[in-house]
Amino acid sequence: ASLAAVTEVYGEVQRAAGAAERIRELLGTEPDISPMGDTQDHNDLSSDHPQGAVVFDEVSFSYPSRPDQLAIDQLSLSVNSGERVALVGPSGAGKSTLFDLLLRFRDPKQGRIYIDGQAIDAMDTKTLRSQFALVPQQPVLFSTSVWENLRYGRPEATEEEIIAAAKAAHAHEFISQLPEGYHSFLGEQGVKLSGGQKQRLAIARAILRDPKILLLDEATSALDAQSEYLVQQALDELMQNRTTFIIAHRLATVAHVDRIAVFDHGKLVDIGTHQTLLSSSPLYARLAELQFNQNPSNEISEPASVTG
Ligand code: ADP
Ligand code: MG
Repeated sequence: ASLAAVTEVYGEVQRAAGAAERIRELLGTEPDISPMGDTQDHNDLSSDHPQGAVVFDEVSFSYPSRPDQLAIDQLSLSVNSGERVALVGPSGAGKSTLFDLLLRFRDPKQGRIYIDGQAIDAMDTKTLRSQFALVPQQPVLFSTSVWENLRYGRPEATEEEIIAAAKAAHAHEFISQLPEGYHSFLGEQGVKLSGGQKQRLAIARAILRDPKILLLDEATSALDAQSEYLVQQALDELMQNRTTFIIAHRLATVAHVDRIAVFDHGKLVDIGTHQTLLSSSPLYARLAELQFNQNPSNEISEPASVTG
């Protein structure tokens, strides 16, 4: 293999190795550090979030192993509080890198990112990350009860809050039908869930976390129609009044967003609604024809402790 290919693989391996640690942090097992006197009410699941405005100001980034290739190239973008933005583009366009920059797993080499007017490089990373929930492509479930799996969203959540979140995520019904309901064990020795059910558990966790900003990396694998419908219902509930970035692989998803940002080779090449982009953006029109789902085998799969 060429040196470039080895470097590429190494980079991907490194990224996968870091993923488990990141997921734990984003699931909320890390304590939320709030400034003293902050009386943010985490108990009101329906509270609206007047915050979560995000600004990218001329942001450029390259990976250390490839200093001359900009994975994000001069990105300027303002996202309003509560806005839903879909990120689409071919594999390698920079969509996942954008999430890494928002969460400060990487820092820009030029430019700055602001949340509610505050530069994120001036915030401590725990405070920064406590404002986000990430719903990854492959939900990470642990070999423990449904209760405990959901509690990863917010360790101090009460039973009532967990059930409310499961209901909002359209997961309560299937959980109730498991042999031992919320006490059922997941994993190799326990019950096996469908892809759509796992996704709804991940969504319930994010609802419990009650973040200002949501990062959704849509699953590439197809769900059956009923599952697809329930997952979309759950997502709609989750996205309510929250700023959302969603890496979209399906046409159905972009119908539920305010703007679609089209990326190619690290550049934001077009932005607009589905209808306007179909006529104004040749790349978008092509991706739409291919249903966005470009080369899913290139996507990094998260190390899940529960499969099947
Ligand atoms: P997308 O999510 O849109 O498929 P990525 O953000 O994963 O794109 O990748 C953007 C660019 O950065 C691609 O050229 C990719 O090969 C490169 N890249 C991603 N991760 C790494 C890494 N860990 N090391 C080096 N290059 C990387
Ligand atoms: Mg990606």
